[in-house]
Amino acid sequence: MRIVVVGAGVIGATLTWELTERGHQVILVDRAKEVAHETSYANGGQLHAGHAAPWNSPGMLTDALRWLGRADSPLRIRPERLLGAPWWLMRFLANANKARHRSNARANATLALYSVQRLYDIIEHTGVECQLRRSSILKLFDDRASLQRGIAAAQAVKDLGIRYNVLDRAQTIAREPTLSTSNDSGKLVGSIEYPEDGCADALMFCQGIAKKAAQKGAELRLGNPVIRLRGDQRQGVAGVVTEHGLIDGDAVVVAAGSHCNQLVQPLGLRLPLEPIKGYSVTIPLGDAAELAPNKPIIDDVRKIVLTRLGDRLRIAGKAEISGFDTRLNPDRCNSVREQGLARFPRLAERLGSIPGEHWSGLRPMTCKGTPLLGPTPIRGLHLATGAGHLGWTFAAGAAELVADQLEGKKSAIYTGPYQV
Ligand SMILES: Cc1cc2nc3c(=O)[nH]c(=O)nc-3n(C[C@H](O)[C@H](O)[C@H](O)COP(=O)(O)OP(=O)(O)OC[C@H]3O[C@@H](n4cnc5c(N)ncnc54)[C@H](O)[C@@H]3O)c2cc1C
Repeated sequence: MRIVVVGAGVIGATLTWELTERGHQVILVDRAKEVAHETSYANGGQLHAGHAAPWNSPGMLTDALRWLGRADSPLRIRPERLLGAPWWLMRFLANANKARHRSNARANATLALYSVQRLYDIIEHTGVECQLRRSSILKLFDDRASLQRGIAAAQAVKDLGIRYNVLDRAQTIAREPTLSTSNDSGKLVGSIEYPEDGCADALMFCQGIAKKAAQKGAELRLGNPVIRLRGDQRQGVAGVVTEHGLIDGDAVVVAAGSHCNQLVQPLGLRLPLEPIKGYSVTIPLGDAAELAPNKPIIDDVRKIVLTRLGDRLRIAGKAEISGFDTRLNPDRCNSVREQGLARFPRLAERLGSIPGEHWSGLRPMTCKGTPLLGPTPIRGLHLATGAGHLGWTFAAGAAELVADQLEGKKSAIYTGPYQV
């Protein structure tokens, strides 16, 4: 088949490699001049099957109210966006009940576990260098009630094969000794360790995997914005119209992250997608490396992740409902850094004035918190988006599922929950 993939983020780039490996003729189109230059550029780097639950948990509203008005709040909503996206928000809240959240969390955990193992295989098979570390992730808690909630969430997906260990404070510090330097270590009550999880640099992976795909015959058309899809609701889609001309194909996969609606809406499809802005800072560690955590960390209190990528430390977090605005807000950038380093005061002191690279990106989040993968009601038009806070984790499995559906094959896991 001749397949056009729109979007060279981690989902589109991995899909391009998968389809090329299967012998298809693939044209990967992106408006950016390089691959992974939007949300897949500097994400948290974590491959976290153990942390795959959608964000709209039943306790979300209570948390949101607690954070209201705080300068360091993990969540921020621009009031005008409430008016702009009421349909999405209502449906997002409608999925925050116990039963729906549980079933969506299980769907995500199934895909995440499958995807992470598949990604490890792809990296081994292709030799793509992306600073992979198959280290367990530690999720830290400062109070017993939150730890108990974390254990309940882990227990709810344990039967799917996601193993976890509950560690007390001393065991946690033994696993990650840099935590012992923390003023906060007195507050730390324990952690949950997820042995299957790991971390790697999504940008390096995208660059490497796109190159491998190109070597096998995929065409990369970068710096080439897609203006619209070619076709209509009745006749189906048979290519795309770009700023540099037409590209035809037997099928088109829209993997344009948060921007998919701009492309599919003219054909009458409205996807339940909202961009959720997040920030990261990447700091070269230099001679402070021994003070930085070795294991990837999820700080449950501050809703921040810390990930060691080679000789750099990436700190990522925050969730803002503020439309498609990716401007860097200096206060939010500083807050991510401060919150990330709060448990590591000696590291914070050593890193001192090293500014690091600040970045923001838009998580393509669906109302259910599960991704949209596979065919649409419009012939020839497929989707690969909606991975929200889990796009790097899902990339390899999502690519396989979408490729299976393009070929009309049954997938290794049940694809029902991700259907459009
Ligand atoms: C702060 C932060 C931390 C995160 N941490 C993690 C983490 O630790 N682990 C994890 O699993 N996930 C994480 N994520 C989520 C993950 O980064 C995203 O889910 C993932 O990057 C989405 O990938 P994508 O390919 O769908 O979209 P993108 O990476 O946004 O790619 C979409 C591509 O489509 C292109 N495009 C859009 N419109 C057009 C058009 N009209 N024509 C041509 N090209 C177009 C864009 O240029 C872009 O390259 C994080 C996200 C953020 C913001």
